[in-house]
Amino acid sequence: MPLLSVDSLQVRYGAVEAVRGIGFEIHPGEIVAFLGANGAGKSSTLNALAGLVPVASGRVVFDGTDITHHAPERLAPMGMTLTPEGRRIFGTLTVEENLRMGAYGVSDRAEMDAAWARVYELFPILFERRSQYAGTLSGGQQQMLAVGRSLMSNPRLLLLDEPSLGLAPKIVEQIFELIGVLRDQGVTLVVVEQNVAMALEIADRGYVMSGGRIVSSGTAGDLSQADRLQAAYLGAE
Ligand code: ATP
Repeated sequence: MPLLSVDSLQVRYGAVEAVRGIGFEIHPGEIVAFLGANGAGKSSTLNALAGLVPVASGRVVFDGTDITHHAPERLAPMGMTLTPEGRRIFGTLTVEENLRMGAYGVSDRAEMDAAWARVYELFPILFERRSQYAGTLSGGQQQMLAVGRSLMSNPRLLLLDEPSLGLAPKIVEQIFELIGVLRDQGVTLVVVEQNVAMALEIADRGYVMSGGRIVSSGTAGDLSQADRLQAAYLGAE
């Protein structure tokens, strides 16, 4: 059974139809990349799945439950979280306070302790800086904090929107390494990325969006060769 199943998903902002009835499935243990030019509808898709923008029509099923109109705070306890584009951390809160905000759905003490241990083990730098204001972290550390915050609710499905955006090449490599580690820990990942080469290196499969539609899909190997990938980037929106 797919972990996430999306059927005829449509997202609108007033007259703008950002996502025009797309369908796809994500299976447990996969890393799936969403690729495409700016404005193709990738962020709108993730935000709609995460309940941050309304679904105009269509259906989203997570682990057998219809979550089409669920608010984000209902999704984290179910096991699905989004690390948004631009990180959205709180600069005037400490690292630890930011992380704690990610754990709002967790009530079990042992689960909470395990979440702290896991995040600080993945990101020792966040442990070192746990009492610092998040705004004083470097861009790469802020991205790690954003991912760490998402991990505090122990998600089975993590949606990552442009995790490498604006980061130095060395940090980008660390972020992609992290994606692999998370998969090895049993997390299923959907990753929106502008860094196509690296995304296809780590992903199992991918979808290419253009103009609010999925215009191509396939294994990462297929997509790296496909002419349609190029067409989606060069083509009209
Ligand atoms: P990017 O990589 O730039 O984030 P994207 O593929 O994620 O691109 P979206 O951000 O989903 O694309 O944008 C899809 C379309 O929706 C674009 O035409 C964009 O201008 C429009 N759009 C996105 N957010 C809004 C909004 N809040 N209000 C109005 N239009 C929006």
